[in-house]
Amino acid sequence: MTFSELGLSAPILQAVEECKYQHPTPIQEQAIPHILEGRDLIGASQTGTGKTAAFALPLLSDLEPLSKPQILVLEPTRELADQVDEAFRSYAKHTDIHTALLYGGMGYGQQTQDLKRGADIVIATPGRLVDHFYRGNMKFKDLKCLVLDEVDRMLDMGFMPIVRKIVNLCPWDHRQTLFFSATMPPMIAGFAKWCLKDDAVEIAIARREVASTISHAFYPVGLDQRDDLLLALIRQTQFHSMMIFTRTRKEADSVCGLIRGSGYGDTVTVMHSDIGQKERMAALKGFREGKFSILVATDVAARGIDINGVTHVVNYRVPENPEDYVHRIGRTGRAEATGDAFTLLTADELDFAMAVEHFIGKKIDRRKLEGFKYAYTTLLDDRPLRPVRKPRPASPSRRRR
Ligand code: ADP
Ligand code: MG
Repeated sequence: MTFSELGLSAPILQAVEECKYQHPTPIQEQAIPHILEGRDLIGASQTGTGKTAAFALPLLSDLEPLSKPQILVLEPTRELADQVDEAFRSYAKHTDIHTALLYGGMGYGQQTQDLKRGADIVIATPGRLVDHFYRGNMKFKDLKCLVLDEVDRMLDMGFMPIVRKIVNLCPWDHRQTLFFSATMPPMIAGFAKWCLKDDAVEIAIARREVASTISHAFYPVGLDQRDDLLLALIRQTQFHSMMIFTRTRKEADSVCGLIRGSGYGDTVTVMHSDIGQKERMAALKGFREGKFSILVATDVAARGIDINGVTHVVNYRVPENPEDYVHRIGRTGRAEATGDAFTLLTADELDFAMAVEHFIGKKIDRRKLEGFKYAYTTLLDDRPLRPVRKPRPASPSRRRR
């Protein structure tokens, strides 16, 4: 399948060609024709599978510049909004379509100006969008299409009430609604029913495997040696760029501090939602450009962020949600590049480890780091402890025979 077979307009096809995309990804191939027909759609596919272009290309293909908001795209974080805006602008470069990018943590001046000058597409995080609405800058009445992107993240971040409010502000009768998410837990499916037309198309591209180009394993360790093993792994690994995932913000800070203090200094950076907008952007940019070689991040902050060419992924803890294991690790083996992924495993996380194995339908190797002085933990036994049965004394009756 090629992009030109999908029915996109010539200026958009030219931009796609300049982006050097060879073929549409599965979600693009399946979603684009329906979106061009004007259907409502739910699209579920893993992070990094090209969902942005799946909605941006057909919407741009069919849009006449009128200098008023016709398409609204909601994003959960500033970074994602930024990326999606960049994508829209590069796909729209041979058209006269303009975008406005609205998010918090920055002044209103530029954003207001962009809206007043006449943007056809508005890309926004929920809070700031509503602020602009209250200020009278943002008008909803000419909207033709509402895109709810990365909805599972919106839910994680507690945005559902405000997103509902925004959906209610959008015209209902002549509106197309597109709904994208990496995962579709029941709560999200219920929400989708509420905001989409009854005949919405559903596309789910499940991916439960870890690409064969990625080598991944569990590294069992005692609780009090987790940090030592992490440092030893970092020391013994030849990496170009490493992402380390933690469960909480506090943990991200402490892991970052630990690595900084162990001789890695300014090559380490951290990203989570307590860190200011400017610093987060700087962390991301620095990591992309190679100024930082290690990025410590919480899953919420990192999900959906497009970072290519990560050579190594470390899970400081086994992810609680098995899908996250596949998502995180997917950051290494993208576009056929090979990658390595390490997951530290302590005894209290065995249930999560089994859930991950069940999810991907495969046993994950347990490995030991060579040269590391392990303190004893039952996890390290080749065969886990079983109740010990004493050998039975030979019965007297037998002996007589
Ligand atoms: P998602 O929203 O599914 O997480 P993105 O839309 O952010 O994924 O896309 C991830 C990356 O894939 C981006 O860098 C994008 O430029 C690239 N990409 C999108 N579509 C294609 C394609 N058809 N061929 C190659 N690369 C693509
Ligand atoms: Mg996305």
